[in-house]
Amino acid sequence: MTMWLSWVLLGCFEVDGRPAGSGDSGAGTDGGADSGTPVVARLPVQLALPLVERELFETVVGVDHDPVEQDGGVLGRATCLDYLGRAFPHCYDQHDGSDYILKGGFSQMDAGSATVVAAAPGVVLAVEDGHYDRCHGDLSTGDVDCDGHDMVANSVTLQHTGTDGTAWRSLYWHLMKDSVLVQVGQEVAAGQALGKVGSSGYSSMPHLHFELQQEGTGEEPLVVDPYAGPYSQDESGWCAQGDEDELPGACP
Ligand SMILES: [Zn+2]
Repeated sequence: MTMWLSWVLLGCFEVDGRPAGSGDSGAGTDGGADSGTPVVARLPVQLALPLVERELFETVVGVDHDPVEQDGGVLGRATCLDYLGRAFPHCYDQHDGSDYILKGGFSQMDAGSATVVAAAPGVVLAVEDGHYDRCHGDLSTGDVDCDGHDMVANSVTLQHTGTDGTAWRSLYWHLMKDSVLVQVGQEVAAGQALGKVGSSGYSSMPHLHFELQQEGTGEEPLVVDPYAGPYSQDESGWCAQGDEDELPGACP
């Protein structure tokens, strides 16, 4: 009798670690609203903030979940929806990643910049370095100017294996010239330094563009917003996503 009762209670109150009734969708970040404990399911890759000097960053410009591509101009670029449904400046049109903007801009970059680290353990799939890193933007037109240099980003791409065997990539763009510390084929640990924040390529100011992709879903890897939310998927890619406007935390 006791065992039967326990089984029924377990079946009623918990399904695969989620509260009963949350189902396969709609659990979002508030599946445990009544209990006061947010329930956020996990993607098969788990990421930590890929930056060391947290205090040097505050703004996150996120992935655009609005499928409509707008035509040119600042107003067009402003039409977007981030994972919480917020518009510009929380995202911009067709943006595929999360931008962490360096406080102090080029002055902070000249003072030593900030360290970009691997968000999860993986293998280096691609690197690009040696390109001009002081590209800057005209906010009125949205144009980026690299002072006559090639508009090519210094970058690192890592490959990760998910807990379910799926293949993932993380991309780290706009790094400082000659700051990349890893080579293709190298294994990296979570938190291992990859380079420094810069403004190479299509970049209007020093910032890290961090992007998560899933492989094997089509000809091109699929961009996945690591942030869970009502306009994103239910599962978070972050070990500790944090509250709105809070930077993600570390992994256990
Ligand atoms: Zn970006």
